[in-house]
Amino acid sequence: MIKGTIFNIQRFSIHDGPGIRTTVFLKGCPLRCLWCHNPEGLSREIDIEYSPVKCIGCGRCRICPNGCHSIRDGGHYFDRDKCDKCGKCVEACVSGSLLVAGKDYTVDEVMKKVESDVLFYKESGGGMTISGGEPFYQSEFTAALFKAAKEKGIHTAVETCGFCSDDALQRALPYIDLFLFDYKVTGAEAHKAATGVDNGVILKNLKTIDDAGKKITLRCPIIPSINDNNEHFEAIANIANTHENIVKVDLEPYHDLGAAKYTNIGKTPAFSHAIPEKERMAHIKEYIEGLTEKKINIS
Ligand code: SF4
Ligand code: SF4
Repeated sequence: MIKGTIFNIQRFSIHDGPGIRTTVFLKGCPLRCLWCHNPEGLSREIDIEYSPVKCIGCGRCRICPNGCHSIRDGGHYFDRDKCDKCGKCVEACVSGSLLVAGKDYTVDEVMKKVESDVLFYKESGGGMTISGGEPFYQSEFTAALFKAAKEKGIHTAVETCGFCSDDALQRALPYIDLFLFDYKVTGAEAHKAATGVDNGVILKNLKTIDDAGKKITLRCPIIPSINDNNEHFEAIANIANTHENIVKVDLEPYHDLGAAKYTNIGKTPAFSHAIPEKERMAHIKEYIEGLTEKKINIS
């Protein structure tokens, strides 16, 4: 039976498509965007999260068979190099300081949770969104989950970076009502420098989705020093103008709310910058509005 590795199922989500939604976050992503704020979604493998602010220093985690946890000099030390992710310390920790990010679910197990909020979807025009990580990284599970949702009459949306094979896209395409499609950086080389891959496949997939008549919201992170320039803004407008089914463009200003998540999984953020000011975002919106009649939002 097909299973997907999921790091969060978020009920009552209001930022991942229309209405009230359940958002399913899948693990694994082929990109490495410098500014990623969901680092626990990058790896396909489970992660052990340790949050120092929740630790009460009780020492129960020293149950670890590999001796990964120690309490000394008034501090808690976690030697991740020796960790084989057995989860025993997580079970022992009573404060919520230790958590496992990532659990395998069947489609039926996820649908049971998704269907419990059907009344809210109906009232609000909401539904189910699959996010990540990158949903098409686990493409068979993603397609099966979308198919199951459509069979129950639930509206479906996907948050995607667009980097996947045509096979992976085609498998799920008939069951997706709305694409929340990232447009990150203009130019193949610049895209590769900022995300690890060039954007040829991504632009091809965007055209495939548009040609299939699927509704698209173009999601554009605005990252100071990386894509905060007129050439990129003009490219956003051009893409909006040349893809009939792009119904709106969401500008998403850079934020650093993911920084603590990197610490919790033993990693360091690859990028840090001051957050764009409201005036700057308003200017960018106005600039793009001058080049397209498509609706432009600031998220
Ligand atoms: S997950 Fe297992 S190996 Fe890793 S620190 Fe916890 S108890 Fe030790
Ligand atoms: S069991 Fe949890 S709260 Fe106790 S010392 Fe370990 S991490 Fe901290």
